Amino acid sequence: MQGYLSRDGMPPAEFLAEGRRELARYGVRVVRGAVTEVLPDGRGEFGVRLSDGRAVDARRVVVATGLVDEAPAVPGVAERWGRDVLHCPYCHGWEVRDRPFGVLAPEPFTSHQALLVTQWSMDVTLFLHTVREVPDVEWERLAAAGVSVVEGEVAGLEVTDDRLTGVRLADGRVFPRSVLFVAARPVPRDGC
Ligand SMILES: Cc1cc2nc3c(=O)[nH]c(=O)nc-3n(C[C@H](O)[C@H](O)[C@H](O)COP(=O)(O)OP(=O)(O)OC[C@H]3O[C@@H](n4cnc5c(N)ncnc54)[C@H](O)[C@@H]3O)c2cc1C
Repeated sequence: MQGYLSRDGMPPAEFLAEGRRELARYGVRVVRGAVTEVLPDGRGEFGVRLSDGRAVDARRVVVATGLVDEAPAVPGVAERWGRDVLHCPYCHGWEVRDRPFGVLAPEPFTSHQALLVTQWSMDVTLFLHTVREVPDVEWERLAAAGVSVVEGEVAGLEVTDDRLTGVRLADGRVFPRSVLFVAARPVPRDGC
């Protein structure tokens, strides 16, 4: 993990273990298991049921089940997620600085991510992918920031020796890139 003041570079598992040690000092009991149901008990409290059949009564329930990042359905994106296909320049930007970046345009279109990542590399190519129309003002902003723009659908990623080496378009063109930023859709992990 990066960008977390006083914990920069700490392995996430160590961060969690440290958090649990801190909780223990306050008498908090950590129960391992998947919650399948939280039901009001009719008396202002809750019954929490786990997948293995256990049940816990609670006066209050804080739902902190996190998010799922829904990545675009481009072959290779899910496999390289968090490695060289990245969504957060604040988490990873410094580590990949000055490399050839690609950015997969989101829909609805915004140039925000492409412009943002120019803080970490001067070599940024925006792939319009399925975006057909870009407003004039966005073309101007991208040109001013020195971002190259490639029209055409992205069909997949080129990977060599377990490293991203390029972005392949449906028409067969390959653009050498070693990092691809994509905007993921954050979806609540609520089982719905
Ligand atoms: C690839 C990647 C890299 C990142 N890098 C960084 C970084 O460098 N620095 C940084 O600050 N942030 C980083 N982030 C963001 C960071 O991971 C999140 O902001 C953070 O994990 C959110 O914490 P959370 O506790 O809200 O959710 P989560 O970390 O998602 O935790 C939710 C927990 O709830 C559990 N859970 C879910 N459903 C149930 C259920 N039904 N029953 C029981 N338990 C359940 C899950 O198993 C999980 O343990 C990164 C994210 C990604 C995807």
